[in-house]
Amino acid sequence: MPTDYFQQFAIQFPGLSDGDHRFEYEIGDDFFQALEYAVVERGKVNVEVLLNKKPNLITLRFQFKGQVQVTCDRCAGNYDFPVEGEQRLIIQIGDGEADDDELIILPRGEFEFNVAQHLYEYIALSLPLRVVPCEETGDTTLCDQSVINKLEELIRTEPDQPVDPRWEKLRGLNTSDN
Ligand SMILES: [Zn+2]
Repeated sequence: MPTDYFQQFAIQFPGLSDGDHRFEYEIGDDFFQALEYAVVERGKVNVEVLLNKKPNLITLRFQFKGQVQVTCDRCAGNYDFPVEGEQRLIIQIGDGEADDDELIILPRGEFEFNVAQHLYEYIALSLPLRVVPCEETGDTTLCDQSVINKLEELIRTEPDQPVDPRWEKLRGLNTSDN
């Protein structure tokens, strides 16, 4: 990752006194686009990190709220989807191996920890596996009806063709509707 952009997400331990600290980040499109592996490419998310430092033990509480752009699984349109969540991460300085998702063990001598990757994962994991905004909200006008009509047409005219899993889903929707 381009280190200069992500440097703002590196928390430097030696400069912090024991006790509570607070960090705020405003994540935008540039954040998602700077992460090469990111499936999410656009969004605007506010993040608050509450940090408690004790000798050799740092506890981070992440709270985030905002929206990211996702692709609808039904009509393939782009939608801003609300995201919100809270996560905890404990950083221990010392030896040994972490046996918990929430725990990270950093060797002595490490002086910073970059939270960018964790932030991305927290946001990405807060999204549902299947995103269909009109089903979430009950507002059927959200989906791009012209795309859905085209898919229905394809299913009608070429029933024996190998079917995209998305169309298969759509077919399932139609039968349950009738
Ligand atoms: Zn849709």
